[in-house]
Amino acid sequence: MRMLNGLPVSRGFVSGPAFLYRSTGGEQIPEYRIEARQATGEGERLTDAFALTKAQIHSLANELKKRISGDEATIFDGHLMMLEDPAFMGSCLDKITNDLCNAEAAVNAVSEQYFSIFEAMDDVYLKERAKDISDIAKRIIQNLSSRCEVLTSRLEHPSIIVADELSPSETISLPRNMILGFATDRGSAVSHASLLARALGIPAVAGLGSISDAVKTGDLLLLDGTRGKVVVNPGNEERSAFNKMSERSKSIEANLDQDKLAKGMTADGHPLPFLANIDHSTPMTDLYAVGAEGVGLYRSEYLWMAYEREPTEEEQAKAYTAAVRAMPEGLAVTIRVLDLGGDKMTRDAASHKEANPFLGNRSIRYLLRNRDVFRRQLRSILRASAHGSVQVLYPMIATIEELRAANIELISCMNELREKEIPFDENLRRGVMIEIPAAALIAETLAKETDFFSIGTNDLIQYALAVDRVNETVARLYQPTHPAVLHLIDISIKAAHRQGLSVSVCGEAAADPFLAVLLVGMGIDELSMSPNLIPIVKKIVRGVTMEDARLLAEEVRNMTALPADKVYAHCRNFVLKFMPDLMYILK
Ligand code: PEP
Ligand code: MG
Repeated sequence: MRMLNGLPVSRGFVSGPAFLYRSTGGEQIPEYRIEARQATGEGERLTDAFALTKAQIHSLANELKKRISGDEATIFDGHLMMLEDPAFMGSCLDKITNDLCNAEAAVNAVSEQYFSIFEAMDDVYLKERAKDISDIAKRIIQNLSSRCEVLTSRLEHPSIIVADELSPSETISLPRNMILGFATDRGSAVSHASLLARALGIPAVAGLGSISDAVKTGDLLLLDGTRGKVVVNPGNEERSAFNKMSERSKSIEANLDQDKLAKGMTADGHPLPFLANIDHSTPMTDLYAVGAEGVGLYRSEYLWMAYEREPTEEEQAKAYTAAVRAMPEGLAVTIRVLDLGGDKMTRDAASHKEANPFLGNRSIRYLLRNRDVFRRQLRSILRASAHGSVQVLYPMIATIEELRAANIELISCMNELREKEIPFDENLRRGVMIEIPAAALIAETLAKETDFFSIGTNDLIQYALAVDRVNETVARLYQPTHPAVLHLIDISIKAAHRQGLSVSVCGEAAADPFLAVLLVGMGIDELSMSPNLIPIVKKIVRGVTMEDARLLAEEVRNMTALPADKVYAHCRNFVLKFMPDLMYILK
């Protein structure tokens, strides 16, 4: 028996066998035998990886041709010829079927044969092509070894995934019915993989340090996502204590569910709509089940991650329209334009490495440098707006110029659609995310040129405190109740209200029941969160009067000299007075 402590990132109790997944590390190529019945699937994996590699090389070649001309611009032509040669792929497919080996091993073996043939040639040009072959093989193997594909193909029964770290695209692509929980060495409560675990209702513990060294596939695990604990190979005593806790939490959760379909408001009737944070893969029926009163944040970048490329205008319009059509009349869908970057990457984007991706060419910055991509997205959002209530949301705004440039593109796309007689909502509302401290500090100016604010506390905290949101070693310094963070929220709310704008919070602070009450007291107009967290937070907000919430906010405003964890504890104790049972299901 061994107990490991980490960060509680998605609440709930689960027990089951571990499935260990670790990066192979370095250049090591995964090699394993497959069964005859798996050969077709393995062949499909190979074909997909060839197609993806081809798309990547095409985009690299185009990029290069934009920047340089002459012979150097054609260096990828040889790569493409190789990828399009049916003999190369055919030999790899034969190897899979005849030797019953995995696709990575087949590509490795076949490319080594080709390499030696080319290297032995006298012609200097052809000799050089040997290098192209190893370069292509490396890329195909990298694309093949996407860990979610390996995981998906080898997971045979529901398990707790133990990994060094999981990316958001891995988390979202794993088969939901095979995942009992997540336990990872690294990661934090606001890394996008953790947000997804919460959205999917999968218990998870991150920042466990070295669980991937301590556990073997098949070990029995007890995972407590509420307190951030994992027990490896427990004895009978631990098992029965765990089962008791799990039963108790289930009965409290069931009780919390009772009010979920009621309107979001405080105990004294002050309206407070509960909105949902979603992406294209969220089943819209889940929103009705939890009583969501609109979509406060549609994360469009997950569409990019699912396609592993920019979705076409048609594909985007279809996805956005589906979400808009699924909402009851009058309830808005707030579509945030692409926020790719930071820890949200497509495999393609990941190949253009930046030293500090969270401070780099992320989000609106990328869109304003790639106007065609931006315009395709804006047009598809506008087209969706003909089918219901839509709002557009600009992420990562730091300057007034960015807001103006985004608005100019939006207006120009509106003109374009009008000329083509394509219908859209002429009164589409546009909002700004307040998630960079600079935006909070110029909130008054921004408020004059926008319709609403949405505060992204996940990034606001990281940028205000200089604490990487995905780095577990500094997780203790990631403090939502730091007075600087609360001050930035306070001034944003006040600036918005002075201009008659509404303010929502769509960062994870909104989904923390203790912080939600504080935010309500500070004057927030709406809260937006993962659908499955709505019932618990709504129940709590419905149990507290506006007067109580304001009192809490006032007390907290006077606590600037206290450490942030003391301020959090104060909010927790304040709320627990109203609902003591929460103690058993929240840390
Ligand atoms: C935020 O930063 O709070 C937010 C909601 O955006 P994301 O988590 O997608 O960066
Ligand atoms: Mg953000």
